[in-house]
Amino acid sequence: MKILAIGRNYVDHAKELNNPVPKEPVVFSMPDSALLKSNNDFYYPDFSKDIHHEVEVVVKINRVGKNIPIEFAHRYYEELALGIDFTARDIQAECKKKGLPWEKAKAFDGAAPISKFVPKTQFKDVNALNFSLNINGERVQVGNTSDLIFSIDYLISYLSKYFTLKIGDLIYTGTPEGVGPVKIGDHLEGELEGEKLLDFHVR
Ligand code: MG
Repeated sequence: MKILAIGRNYVDHAKELNNPVPKEPVVFSMPDSALLKSNNDFYYPDFSKDIHHEVEVVVKINRVGKNIPIEFAHRYYEELALGIDFTARDIQAECKKKGLPWEKAKAFDGAAPISKFVPKTQFKDVNALNFSLNINGERVQVGNTSDLIFSIDYLISYLSKYFTLKIGDLIYTGTPEGVGPVKIGDHLEGELEGEKLLDFHVR
């Protein structure tokens, strides 16, 4: 399986990092070794001094598709999860400055915690999902998928032009504003529509 991720998909997040609001999705990918499942501890990597949290709604693809028309995109996923797109902001800044790819900053081992999956039928509207992240009991990020610049269906259609989507592929849809550093000992808890799905520690 592959993990595709979208950068700068919320206006206020693009602005907080002084990035332009994109005209088309900013896409990067991660290998499956980036996944961190079952609320296991995240181990702070020794190659960075500035790991940031980015809480994101994650879509799991359930059918093979290529060049998917946007009006059929909803048929290509049944389940959603909450994830963190951990980012080594210091390494990313270096890569951006040099015009280099982001993988070392974004796709390292454990960079992509993922919650259990919940059926989308559980929600009234996938385009209006509230989600949030608390660190040590304090709310640090709040988002709603209605604020996505590029919607879930748009992303599925767009990505499938470039990458054949396969069963089990994941799309990290982007983070709202409020990103910031984590430190060893932090307790992260993420909620999707009021249900706590992420609950793990930084070690
Ligand atoms: Mg992200």
